[in-house]
Amino acid sequence: MKRQVCIICRKPLNSGIIISGKRICKCCEEKIINTQMNTDFYEYYKNCIKKNIVQNALKGEEINCQNYHL
Ligand SMILES: [Zn+2]
Repeated sequence: MKRQVCIICRKPLNSGIIISGKRICKCCEEKIINTQMNTDFYEYYKNCIKKNIVQNALKGEEINCQNYHL
């Protein structure tokens, strides 16, 4: 079985939330929560999560969203 990693930062997960079967670490979860809506960053994270979920449903692959640095 594959080790679980955060779909956003790709770090191994110890704890976090699960959205549609995808894992998001505490750190990224807090970033999302603390990010104001309607910002580029918020949109990016939303798209990243959405793409990961859709992509996984279609192909069973994960997208690397690591190229967005804070
Ligand atoms: Zn993360």
